[in-house]
Amino acid sequence: MSIFGHLPRHPLAFLPTPLHPLPRLSALLRKQGVPVELWIKRDDQTGLGLGGNKTRKLEFLLAGALAQGADTLITTGAVQSNHCRQTAAAAARAGLACHLVLGGQPPQEPNGNLLLDMLFGAEVHWTSRENRLPRLEALAAELKAAGNTPYFITYGGSDRVGASGYAVAVEEALAQARELGVAFDAIVFASSSGGTHAGLVAGSWALGSDVPVLGISIDEQEAALQAKVAALATDTALHIGFPRIFKAADILVDAGYLGGGYGIVGELEREAVRVMAQAEGIVLDPVYTGRAFGGLLDILRRSPERLSRGEGEPGERGPRVLFWHTGGAPALFAYAEAIR
Ligand SMILES: *Cc1c(COP(=O)(O)O)cnc(C)c1O
Repeated sequence: MSIFGHLPRHPLAFLPTPLHPLPRLSALLRKQGVPVELWIKRDDQTGLGLGGNKTRKLEFLLAGALAQGADTLITTGAVQSNHCRQTAAAAARAGLACHLVLGGQPPQEPNGNLLLDMLFGAEVHWTSRENRLPRLEALAAELKAAGNTPYFITYGGSDRVGASGYAVAVEEALAQARELGVAFDAIVFASSSGGTHAGLVAGSWALGSDVPVLGISIDEQEAALQAKVAALATDTALHIGFPRIFKAADILVDAGYLGGGYGIVGELEREAVRVMAQAEGIVLDPVYTGRAFGGLLDILRRSPERLSRGEGEPGERGPRVLFWHTGGAPALFAYAEAIR
């Protein structure tokens, strides 16, 4: 029985996604003098159009779109947006048209997520980053004038409806942990447009979970991301029926791994992607999960006490950490040069 059963939902994902230990990677780190018990939640395996965290948001966003009689989805993102790719796949699954407004220039050879956008039948519109909003408004007006009923999905799917997908996901993960008999000291993941983070925070509150959820910031300074997530978590908590006002100080963010900026791959991401691939056969992505897992490795090496729950000394096994894999691997093929 879900406490969120009342939320309108359009099924798109294969759920529950697997939650399993990372024994070889944990042993490797232990050998390097970094005691930790690592687990992973496989939202790279949501099953829709090569998977990822946006699928969970889209289940709730699509329910809204269909209830309003929409026949077309519109959304926006970067050239290698995983959100746009999963939205295009969701539109295909639901029999809707899809228009994507992408910031930047069309590359000579579409690859990675962009190739998939086209394969899923989305129509791609190019614009400069600054011109994105007016372009979206003009596109919506054009579609309406032509007799369509467009539904606009915000950047990253990160409004309270999309974020509620991650409140529901907390319930799923806690049930798995209970079944497996494990209690996590922390949940760590990549945080960017804030919907995943807000949903995890609001869901943890609704379910009475005290497991800290630490977002590794991908592209924003700590205070800015905390404020954004607190506002969205407050909105999401109300939407799911468990109202609470979250303050910036309630939101755990580490913005120490911004490197050269959004989408700029450095040694941190390269090492993280390689070690996960070679120790566990699991593919991370260069922009989000590579950065977040690289950040987690650095925290484990330098200040693992941040990830234990203050119950005396960190024990022999070290903290028990759940890394939430949010997907993104299709972008790897567009970053081949930078990642290898
Ligand atoms: C979008 C995305 C994120 C960030 O999720 P937000 O809800 O936008 O914070 C993390 N990882 C991947 C692979 C993504 O595509």
